[in-house]
Amino acid sequence: MSSSDDIARVRETLLSRYEGLETKADILKSPELKELLAGIRDVEPSERSAYGQAVNALQQELKEKVLSNMHEKSALPSIDVTAPFDINGEKPSLLPSENGTTHPLTQEIATLSDIFYRMGYVVEESREIDDQYHMFEALNFPKGHPARDDYDTFMTVEKDSEGEPFVAPAHTSTMQNRILKKYHANLEKGEAIAAIVPDRVFRNEDLDARHEHTFYQVEGVYVAKGVHAGMLIATLQQFLQEYYGKELEVRVNPFYFPFTEPSFEFALSCPFCEGNDSSCKVCGGEGWVELLGCGMIHPNVLKAADIDPNEYTGFAFGCGIDRLVMMKYQIEDVRHFESAKLDFLRQF
Ligand SMILES: [Zn+2]
Repeated sequence: MSSSDDIARVRETLLSRYEGLETKADILKSPELKELLAGIRDVEPSERSAYGQAVNALQQELKEKVLSNMHEKSALPSIDVTAPFDINGEKPSLLPSENGTTHPLTQEIATLSDIFYRMGYVVEESREIDDQYHMFEALNFPKGHPARDDYDTFMTVEKDSEGEPFVAPAHTSTMQNRILKKYHANLEKGEAIAAIVPDRVFRNEDLDARHEHTFYQVEGVYVAKGVHAGMLIATLQQFLQEYYGKELEVRVNPFYFPFTEPSFEFALSCPFCEGNDSSCKVCGGEGWVELLGCGMIHPNVLKAADIDPNEYTGFAFGCGIDRLVMMKYQIEDVRHFESAKLDFLRQF
């Protein structure tokens, strides 16, 4: 069945059957309706959209009929959701009945994910407990490597099969090895591995206006043939300009991470004062903000994911999302995000 006549005929049949049904919702399980829905894929491409819309409209019509029938039958008294809210006859200053919104960090993660998605990246999630292999070894931090000390995080009492405790990941790079393996087939098809991981990370930090024990990072991974550092810098610049909605200058300084070689610390021109305010709170009058760590993926990290470093190269970056958002809105204290203070949250 695949014409508009069929739809009209099925509609007549179903409407007349509806009246006699004991359980009205059964109409939505009718084989005729299922057949119409299944028929969408057999319609000529030029007519498929119109046909699909007509079938969906019929399905919607039936759903609404069932719903209105349920409302009529309902014995519960209706609730006036617009009735004024008060406590002992007085209105509180913050009404709990006001509309809810998503958390500012959730909103910003959606924004930045969208920018990378349009640049061809897939979005992956991290995890809240991981093993030390993914957190360290797969990233070229062998056991006993002194750089492990820079990633002081929380550990479980339980041990893995190697006798090591599990960790609350201190960086979203804990997903790199899994991403490289998951999208390995892209390389064989001549495509790139391109993924970001915006998610929570954990550090055993003393809390202050700039440090939280739980915060957000976005990891980026890009691997293909002939990838070089210029592409890394152009990608980050493009992303940050879109995110802040203005032209920005960037600069890189050499740095050290075990999982990238060479490694860079990436700074951008202050999106607030553009270097014109010696008392700027965002850059401290420097005109530059050190924002993230990045570099070319170390050959050992590629090898750990069965990628030949002589054939493929790639870059990776890790950026603190809280920091990114604080700079965007001039938020002075990172602890506001987890404070559950409504007067802060309602500004977004
Ligand atoms: Zn500034």
